Amino acid sequence: MKKIASFCVDHTKLKKGIYVSRVDGDVVTYDLRMCTPNAGSYLENAAQHTFEHLFATYARNSKYTDSVVYVGPMGCRTGFYFLVRDTMSHAEVIGLLKDVCAFIAGYEGEIPGNSEVECGNYLDHDLPGARKMGAAFGEVIQNWTPEMTAYEN
Ligand code: ZN
Repeated sequence: MKKIASFCVDHTKLKKGIYVSRVDGDVVTYDLRMCTPNAGSYLENAAQHTFEHLFATYARNSKYTDSVVYVGPMGCRTGFYFLVRDTMSHAEVIGLLKDVCAFIAGYEGEIPGNSEVECGNYLDHDLPGARKMGAAFGEVIQNWTPEMTAYEN
């Protein structure tokens, strides 16, 4: 079988940030890299699960709702993939992600979709952990620019 594109990225050189992973037609996949690969610290499962619920809820309730295709964590627990239609510019995606991080960093109250009916593992959540992820990634991307979304940087 052919090696898929995301395995061709040199993970030894990859730093935290926002990158364009691939483009399929009008769908752009962003690599939201929250941990340095293979550096010993990874996202905790319960925290990234809560982050996923809040991220999806915020993005799908934003003005960009029609452009949002999918958001979900990477199996390696070093980040998330965020898929949007190319109706959003890189700058708009970066802006939305800053808003997502600020929203999650300050979130209090019920975790949306957190019930046995709505979620596949509803007891495995960590809101304080998700808040820390939001604050940390918000700091990483605060000065991110569209030019920096190319993997070569
Ligand atoms: Zn869930």
